Amino acid sequence: MSCINVTIWNEFRHEKHDEGIKKIYPDGIHNAIKNYLDKVDGLNVRTATLDEPEHGLTDEVINSTDVMLWWGHMAHGEVRDDIVNKVWNRVQKGMGLIVLHSGHASKIFQKITGTRSSDLKWREDGDIERLWVIDHNHPITQGIGDYIELPSEEVYGETFEIPTPDELLFISWFEGGEVFRSGLTYRRGNGKVFYFRPGHESVPTYHNPKILRVIENAVKWAAPLGYPDYPTGYVRPLSPVGGKIIK
Ligand code: ZN
Repeated sequence: MSCINVTIWNEFRHEKHDEGIKKIYPDGIHNAIKNYLDKVDGLNVRTATLDEPEHGLTDEVINSTDVMLWWGHMAHGEVRDDIVNKVWNRVQKGMGLIVLHSGHASKIFQKITGTRSSDLKWREDGDIERLWVIDHNHPITQGIGDYIELPSEEVYGETFEIPTPDELLFISWFEGGEVFRSGLTYRRGNGKVFYFRPGHESVPTYHNPKILRVIENAVKWAAPLGYPDYPTGYVRPLSPVGGKIIK
């Protein structure tokens, strides 16, 4: 694949209605991430938001996306089920999916995990968050060092109601004492999925260079090698079975 087509999907509601959040992300969380990814060689980046027609996710957009990022929080219920199904189908075919922060409770992540994936502890007291790298030899953790420290973040605490991940890459520690599985992967069909916890809307997490580096690494990791076309359903045997040639 010569160029990775990336679509950053954002609910884009908090940034329109809250002055404090608008100051941190004047053009929305999606554009803060896009501004960084636009400087990375080999990526073709566009955005889509909830209030656009079809949430910005027309068939043309979905079917030409190699890696989709998903940020949502207050309006998960407004996302159309038929569009969630199309995104899910595209993942089965090979599209990568990166679910960010409160996207853990989105319809698409629930469909991916097969759980509500929304039950966890939370708190907004400005705790320090330290994301400790669990796997130093994984493409997503390269260039990060031993940990990422965020001076103020929303707390998520275990238990996080998800199936056991295929890979656990980060565990977060919070100043108030909680821990959380904050970077993890799944394979679903031909698609690779990465969940990455930090990114509450009222703190400038998506301006942090290490957080952006993880997202860049994840986009490259999740990009499909291609969209394999292989036989399924009834097939004739390759050689005679019980001495008979089956036509
Ligand atoms: Zn949050």
